[in-house]
Amino acid sequence: MTERTALITGAARGIGFGIGRRLARAGLQVVLVDRDGDAVAAAAETLSGEGMRARPAVVDVADFAAVQAVAAGLMAELGPIHVLVNNAGISQPRSILEISEREWDEVIAIHLKGAFNWCKALAPGMVAAAHGRIVNISSVNAHTGGGELAVSKVSYAAAKAGLLGMTRALARELAPHVCVNAICPGSIATDLTAAKIGALRDRIVGSIPLGRLGTPEDIAEVVAFLATAEPCFITGEVIDVDGGQFIN
Ligand code: NAP
Repeated sequence: MTERTALITGAARGIGFGIGRRLARAGLQVVLVDRDGDAVAAAAETLSGEGMRARPAVVDVADFAAVQAVAAGLMAELGPIHVLVNNAGISQPRSILEISEREWDEVIAIHLKGAFNWCKALAPGMVAAAHGRIVNISSVNAHTGGGELAVSKVSYAAAKAGLLGMTRALARELAPHVCVNAICPGSIATDLTAAKIGALRDRIVGSIPLGRLGTPEDIAEVVAFLATAEPCFITGEVIDVDGGQFIN
């Protein structure tokens, strides 16, 4: 894996940082992408300090032109990017009765268009190299629509479900050398869920058959499998990583 490079969005903290650390531990060079320059620089420094190859890149994933420019600069400097993890995201707790048009657009722009922007930038290089892996971080919210124990509501469920359709379409369009899969995390302890977990911890943990909250490492482990297994014979799949919270 030492000749491979992975790019992870939303990687200054939380699940994205956990994925970055896990892939770097597997030997890949990692590019940590986030919109907060100081935070993502500190995250990359942490991994470098642990002896891993990590570098930061600052961009808002929702900005198409900026993503294309940053991606071109990275590829000119580092060569091909073999693994893309679309992870950047925000929560949005407003229902259809409360949400504004601006709030709706922001969620779709970050979760769904952000993934499109990075796929548009990196998929041509993966196809040309006849090798690539894309992992989209969706949510169990895409199946359930949210609910009382969930942080986010309609805009988030719509964006995350859109990501699953995009995963399946790209798996077809980019075959046979690029594998595209999605992970749906359940309740993972990060800044994004801290307030909800703080308020409803016992009920949330009680809803998880495996009896604990998820961690970024739980997600990172599955990403590492999807990103590094050779040869790849899984594509267009959606894997729930939720401790059994939404067994159906
Ligand atoms: P987090 O701790 O809030 O981290 C998300 C990171 O993404 C933050 O550093 C954030 O930066 C960054 N980000 C947000 N919008 C961005 C943009 N437009 N451009 C670049 N970076 C951006 O969240 P997390 O819990 O790790 O979640 C990571 C992903 O997993 C998200 O897609 C989330 O929807 C999904 N997920 C999480 C859970 C969970 O239980 N935690 C469950 C299911 C799915 P800022 O600080 O500037 O916002």
